[in-house]
Amino acid sequence: MKGSLIGFDVSAAKIITSHSQLIALDPSIKNSIHGEFDAEMLSTRVCPVRMSDQSVALFGLREYVASDQANELARRVVAKGYVLSDPQRFILEAPLLLALARSQLPGIHIDAAGMGMGLSRSALTGAFQDLIEWGVRNGASDLHININTSSVESEVRYTISGSYVAPQRFKNMSTGMLVDMLSVIWMDVKGGNGALFDPRVEQQGSLIRQVDGYDVVIRWASLSADSGPSVCMRILVQGITPANMDLSSLGYTDSQVLTINRAMKSSGGAVIFAGTVGSGKSTTLAALISNLSPCRKVITLEDPVEYKIPNAIQNTVSRSLNDSQPFVYASKLMTVKRSAMTDVLLGEIRDTETGKAFMDLASSGINVYSTVHAPSATLVPDRLCSDFIGVSRDFLLTPKILKLIVYQTLIARLCTHCSLPVGTLLKGFYDTDGHMRSGTYWGQWLDSIQSMYCIDVSGMRIRNINGCASCSNGGISALKGYEGRTVVAEIIEPPVQQDFLDSVRNGNLICWLSQNGFKAGDKSVLNAKWRSAMDNAVIKSCNGIVDPRDIEQHFESFETNRLRIRRVS
Ligand SMILES: [Zn+2]
Repeated sequence: MKGSLIGFDVSAAKIITSHSQLIALDPSIKNSIHGEFDAEMLSTRVCPVRMSDQSVALFGLREYVASDQANELARRVVAKGYVLSDPQRFILEAPLLLALARSQLPGIHIDAAGMGMGLSRSALTGAFQDLIEWGVRNGASDLHININTSSVESEVRYTISGSYVAPQRFKNMSTGMLVDMLSVIWMDVKGGNGALFDPRVEQQGSLIRQVDGYDVVIRWASLSADSGPSVCMRILVQGITPANMDLSSLGYTDSQVLTINRAMKSSGGAVIFAGTVGSGKSTTLAALISNLSPCRKVITLEDPVEYKIPNAIQNTVSRSLNDSQPFVYASKLMTVKRSAMTDVLLGEIRDTETGKAFMDLASSGINVYSTVHAPSATLVPDRLCSDFIGVSRDFLLTPKILKLIVYQTLIARLCTHCSLPVGTLLKGFYDTDGHMRSGTYWGQWLDSIQSMYCIDVSGMRIRNINGCASCSNGGISALKGYEGRTVVAEIIEPPVQQDFLDSVRNGNLICWLSQNGFKAGDKSVLNAKWRSAMDNAVIKSCNGIVDPRDIEQHFESFETNRLRIRRVS
């Protein structure tokens, strides 16, 4: 064959429509050998299978069975000394192929109701394990299964580094198989609403799986969309110790690290981390707490525990959706208060119950660490005092209650091996929405950043969308050119910036911002009294760490920012 592709006419492939037909093949199926060809990625589309006469046949989805990839696989099968079967290739549906690839055929049973092919419980559980393992190993924060009831295929996606991506490996998953899988997996959900998976209602709960020796808590939230259920599963790997995580490596600047460390030294008061879902708040908190002195007694109340913090006594306090156990939290809190701790990590302040717990703990003179959803550090007091949370404004603005407010977000960090100089834009280049922009456009854009922030933009770098060997994570194009994410943050330290609490009290934040914040074109952003997370992101991009185009996408356009800042000042 000498490297030439084996061409194949799809009409010569034999079509298998049922499980019994598959079992009745002569020669019969022995086992899948995709592992021998490093063809795992491909095996959900085309899979090499050893038959009872030792020949090898290719089983694949109709659209792949005669593809170049299948031909290449056939070439490698022959090159390895195998004889191809006659017929050489078979066409079958995705669920059958999946079971075949996983060598779980003996478990297949035919649906008694005659609704077609059903996969056994173990095959479905195995398919789910595949999805979770892939997610954990590729650092995904969420798995999304978007069922489309009007199509034979549905979508499997992951959130990795904040990008919503669809790995090639899980393309063309059968809708029927995914729905069956969700139904089987729902039976393992604890604390969920409903005994059975019901595509028509919103359901939430959590379950545990093991991957590579770690417990993985999977938090299930399903949305009943028009096209079918859309299930989002948050993947929380348990027991990872934040040992290697320090604030600098997470992305905090040297002066921010100094501020945070200073606040951590003073006794009593609250450290609040703000940000959106998935902004890395819990990671930073875990890193901070694991660095506390061993002389401090640290207790955590979390839902669920996300990181194993070696020096802390950790408590999972699940708070169910249906409010059937409102007293569990309160009684746990009561016990915790009597345990003479010096520091407490209070998961997330998100409702009146956690708001009360926060007031309770913060007023008792201990160190409290918590998180809240807020779009900036300046808006944290308003968020805590909102009707949803109900912390008393007078209480919150009492000196020594709020020790530190940090807002953080994560921005993709450029791959240091393949990022491109910013001058590349001047030859004409795409924007983040994929529109080609002229060199003149980019020239003006860079000039405006330079004059607005009074900062040298020549050290900026941009993403190489083709990536390189070091950053081509699992071949997902949305991640090429990046190397994880970096924190950009803004910090307010009320004991030092005393006028901040006054401005909150007087409803005068705009005035505080205009006196303290960076003003466009006024002086260099490097010399600003106080910098927002976006200002800090600009400085990072001038140091070649993040792509300036990603800053706009993450926060707002530089033009909007310029107009807004001009209005404030
Ligand atoms: Zn790279």
